[in-house]
This record gives sequence, structure tokens and C-alpha cells, in this order.
Amino acid sequence: MNKGQLIVFSGPSGVGKGTVLKEFLQHRDNVSLSISATTRQPRPGEENAVHYYFLTREEFEQRIAENNMLEYAQYNGNYYGTPKDKVEEALEQGRDIILEIEVQGALLVKEKCPNALLVFVMPPSWQELRDRLTGRGTEDAETIEKRLNIAQGELKQAIHYDYILVNDQVEAAAKRLEHIMESGRCRIVEMKDFIREVDQHA
Ligand code: ADP
Ligand code: 5GP
Repeated sequence: MNKGQLIVFSGPSGVGKGTVLKEFLQHRDNVSLSISATTRQPRPGEENAVHYYFLTREEFEQRIAENNMLEYAQYNGNYYGTPKDKVEEALEQGRDIILEIEVQGALLVKEKCPNALLVFVMPPSWQELRDRLTGRGTEDAETIEKRLNIAQGELKQAIHYDYILVNDQVEAAAKRLEHIMESGRCRIVEMKDFIREVDQHA
């Protein structure tokens, strides 16, 4: 059986990653979204084990010590990380899995899993990013400024990704993500077994 594809999906806070993924996943059943662990407080409406596994710092550090994290990073004073087991299970079962993670974690995944497909989401403009982050209304002004500062650093890391996805319109961006994933499956790193298989019968 073919293994699933590991997709890393990053971009500045407020660019619309969650919105695009929601639209994208509505039309697919062979792709899942990894549920991360975090030490940040839940936002209104966020549920444990649905949006994140909300952990204390002690619990999170215990998971690190037990080598249960594929990657983890600190973002704005909190830990965020990807539990390893679910990702491995999905890939083994031939299902694609998307990690929606920030850039430091993404670059760690790239080192550990060279086949991973890295997609960086960009806003159409800086002003649009500011407007979206403010418009979402989930963070206070100070947190918004901190997230925008982090975003400036993140944009500089975009060159390490395989694809840039500009989130101009949600549906169009979700469609483009589908095309990116299709292209990802045609990469040489994904096709080595197939080439060998055909070659064996030459
Ligand atoms: P992220 O997951 O990247 O932090 P969200 O998905 O929460 O971002 O989106 C941030 C805000 O921007 C939300 O209010 C969302 O409705 C809005 N948004 C997302 N994509 C678009 C888009 N293409 N055009 C306009 N607004 C958008
Ligand atoms: P938020 O607090 O807005 O939910 O997430 C803040 C940042 O953490 C976002 O850039 C998000 O992509 C990232 N993030 C979420 N889960 C993980 C994870 O498991 N690992 C890493 N490295 N970053 C994550």
C-alpha cells in the first residue's frame, strides 16, 4: 500500500490557515488534520482533543521527555507540538495528514522527514494580514502586535518551503492547495518505489 503524504502547513497568525483548511477538508475524507498539543489557554469555543490537546507545562515537558513529540516549539511564550503516534498511524494507513504548525517546528519536520511537503500561506498584503488578525477578535491589541512581530520573522523563513499559497479568497486557495498536494505526489521522492517497480519488469 502507498504511504500517505505528510503536509506541513504554516503561515503567520491570522493569515487564514484554519479557514482554508476547513474549506479544503470539507471535500475530502482521505486527509486528516493532526491535533497538536499546546500549553496556551483555550479560546472561547475551543475544545480539548478537538482543536488542541490543552496541557500544562509539566504535562507537555513530560511528553517531550518520553519522546512523544514529532516536533515542538515555543511560540509567544507557550509550547506547541505534534504528537507522534497519530501522524505515524495515518501515514502507515495510506492517509495524508496535515500539520498546521509554525516555522521552527516546520523546519524540524523537514529535517526529520525529507519527504514532507512544506506549504507556506501568505496574505495578499501586510495590511490585509493586520486586518484579518484584528477582525478575528480573539486576541487583545498587545497579543496582536506580538503576533505581527513574529509574523515578520516567519515571512523570512518562507524560502525554505516548497510552495507559497496566497490566501486571497478562501475557496480559490483551498483549490490551489489541492493542486499543490497533487503535484507533491508526483515528486521524485514520492515516486522512487514506483520507478523501481516498473524498472524491475523491464
Ligand atoms: P489562522 O488560522 O491563520 O490564524 P484564521 O483562519 O483564524 O487564521 O483566519 C483569521 C481571520 O481571517 C478570520 O476572521 C477569517 O474569517 C479571516 N479570513 C481567512 N481567510 C480569509 C480570506 N481569504 N479573505 C478574507 N478573510 C479571511
Ligand atoms: P494559535 O495560538 O493561533 O492556535 O497557534 C499559534 C501558532 O502555533 C500558529 O502558527 C500555529 O500554526 C502554531 N502551531 C499549532 N500547533 C503547532 C504544533 O504542533 N507545533 C508547532 N511547532 N507549531 C504549532
